[in-house]
Amino acid sequence: MQLGVDSEHYDLLIIGGGINGAGIARDAAGRGLKVLLVEQNDLASATSSASTKLIHGGLRYLEYFEFRLVAEALAERETLLKIAPHIIWPLEFVLPHESHLRPAWMIRAGLFLYDHLGHRMLGFGSKSSLPMSKGVRLADNGYGAGLKPEFKRGFVYYDCWVDDARLVVLNARSAAAHGATIQTHTRFVSARREGGEWAATLNGERGIRTVRASAIVNAAGPWVRQVLDEALRIRLPATVRLVKGSHIVVPRIHEERHAFILQNPDRRVIFMIPYERQFTLVGTTDVPVTRDDYRAKISRKEIDYLCE
Ligand SMILES: Cc1cc2nc3c(=O)[nH]c(=O)nc-3n(C[C@H](O)[C@H](O)[C@H](O)COP(=O)(O)OP(=O)(O)OC[C@H]3O[C@@H](n4cnc5c(N)ncnc54)[C@H](O)[C@@H]3O)c2cc1C
Repeated sequence: MQLGVDSEHYDLLIIGGGINGAGIARDAAGRGLKVLLVEQNDLASATSSASTKLIHGGLRYLEYFEFRLVAEALAERETLLKIAPHIIWPLEFVLPHESHLRPAWMIRAGLFLYDHLGHRMLGFGSKSSLPMSKGVRLADNGYGAGLKPEFKRGFVYYDCWVDDARLVVLNARSAAAHGATIQTHTRFVSARREGGEWAATLNGERGIRTVRASAIVNAAGPWVRQVLDEALRIRLPATVRLVKGSHIVVPRIHEERHAFILQNPDRRVIFMIPYERQFTLVGTTDVPVTRDDYRAKISRKEIDYLCE
């Protein structure tokens, strides 16, 4: 192990090589800032490769009147689809109708908003490149494949699928192409203020060394609080609530190309998404975890919940 001082000064030191760290690195490097991103493991080794792999506006957030959030996410969906069509593509969702959970008029109204909300953000006269939602008979076009026959009607709408880990790597590569330094297997250990800037200690393949930076971005995902408390020693009153969302992978439940969005009796939604040709990805759960449980694993109870 070597000790060293990196004499170079960075405008921005980013902790974490997930989608947030990589995206911020790309944006900052594109604006001409001198960027160093450090990732303790590999790029996308944590949450950003274990997502449901959707680029979506968040249909369910409409129920909480989060119109702006959904509109912004829909506009971003359009942008991402344009710039990375080789790893992001449209995915058709079938929502079987269960009138005792949500009335049809409510779903129709929600989908109408979902079809149109993103346009204003994209600019006058712009349109989503994805097809509009519609009501369907599940017996048509194989929409009911894999469902119990008692489901007769449903709705179809579109979002996008993404190779989440590749999106992270492509952002990091683009950041590097704009001059950012990306160092994997390098842990941010601590930092202190020195002469109006940060002197940060890193531990990686090049040994323990110190770099200087004008600003630090804490994009450590589930470790965000640990970095604040233990590495930066900054006390903030705000708390971070950690939750785990688990998926199960089962043999493919139907041969059609569509995914399902299912309404659970607890009003949560569960996605069933065609995955790696032969499989279906089912998720997620939403379970609080403690700070000591960073490598969260699915529990028997969660598996039962997803299989219900
Ligand atoms: C079950 C589930 C499903 C989801 N589905 C979707 C979805 O379909 N679509 C969507 O858009 N979003 C989805 N999300 C949300 C999305 O996945 C997360 O918001 C996103 O991945 C978080 O990225 P991040 O970069 O903040 O964190 P992470 O990807 O966790 O990255 C943080 C990184 O920081 C590194 N790190 C931590 N401490 C240090 C240190 N001291 N030094 C160096 N590196 C450090 C870690 O190793 C890690 O790689 C989902 C989330 C979950 C949990």
